[in-house]
Amino acid sequence: ATPTAVMVGTGVGASNGILIKGGEPLESAHQIGTIVFDKTGTITKGKPSVIDKRIFFQNADMTLDRMLAIAGTAESGSEHPLALAVRNHCKDHFGTNELGLCRDFKAIWGYGLQARVSNIDCLVKSTDGGTSHIYSVLIGNREWMKRNHLSVDDGIDKTMSIHEHDGHTAVLVAIDGKVVGMLAIADEIKPTAPLTIYALQSLGLRTILLTGDNVKTARAIASQVGIKTVYAEVLPTHKERFIASLKENKNYHGKVAMVGDGINDSPALARADVGIAVGTGADVAVEAASIVLIRDELFDVVAAIKLSKKTVWRIR
Ligand code: ADP
Ligand code: MG
Repeated sequence: ATPTAVMVGTGVGASNGILIKGGEPLESAHQIGTIVFDKTGTITKGKPSVIDKRIFFQNADMTLDRMLAIAGTAESGSEHPLALAVRNHCKDHFGTNELGLCRDFKAIWGYGLQARVSNIDCLVKSTDGGTSHIYSVLIGNREWMKRNHLSVDDGIDKTMSIHEHDGHTAVLVAIDGKVVGMLAIADEIKPTAPLTIYALQSLGLRTILLTGDNVKTARAIASQVGIKTVYAEVLPTHKERFIASLKENKNYHGKVAMVGDGINDSPALARADVGIAVGTGADVAVEAASIVLIRDELFDVVAAIKLSKKTVWRIR
């Protein structure tokens, strides 16, 4: 491309909230054959909330409220969107910002967390006359429970599946070595997501959903927006490898683009031929991406590709 064309193209982009980092991404964008979308925060709003809570083994020591207090406290160590949903729910439910004491917190990417929780008396009355029991807590997906040798019986599995078929994320709560409950968390799709996918497919692009979330949840969200190809339960560290393998796949023509919000997917954004960061993207995403969409408007992906086509067409 001539320097003038690049200047005009990036200039037009910039005035519309589409930051294109130079001539290369501007030209590559019209050669995209495959476009991969992250789920949470990219296709969905990334503002999940708890919509259902269950306790499977209830007794005087373990009530739904107690489980919630323990889960909320354990999630206080996490920055995951799911953690925020659980904490917000605690805040609403108990009517306070207070949480118990969380220690030895460890986030396990792609699986969940482990922590030890005590001092939840500020949320639920203690049953042992004030001595604070230290709960050992695990929160996460089925795989996380399995890894810790905790069994998830068929009834629990079925309850989770019902939510997953609706596109919700079901996370399990294990306390002191037993899976005691479940929290179902829902994240709405962005209103213009279906139109964006339709427009991209109309331009002849292959669309793919890539997520660390459960396969049933992922399929449900994908079908809501019109994506047919789904790769789910992909660990954060494997998202980059997935993009690399797409680039090498001889059956796939054209360049590979990745659209993400940067939480978990910066390496994948950097690996793609065209990395597109969308919305309130994390700082790391802005760095890793070659195109940054300033507005939280998914349809700007289409605008960016059309801008690229126009610029290149003008050059020739
Ligand atoms: P995504 O690709 O949607 O960002 P992640 O790889 O971050 O997914 O997480 C995958 C799964 O691990 C989640 O769907 C959830 O089941 C579990 N998980 C991860 N972090 C947490 C957490 N803080 N609390 C509960 N579950 C979690
Ligand atoms: Mg995300």
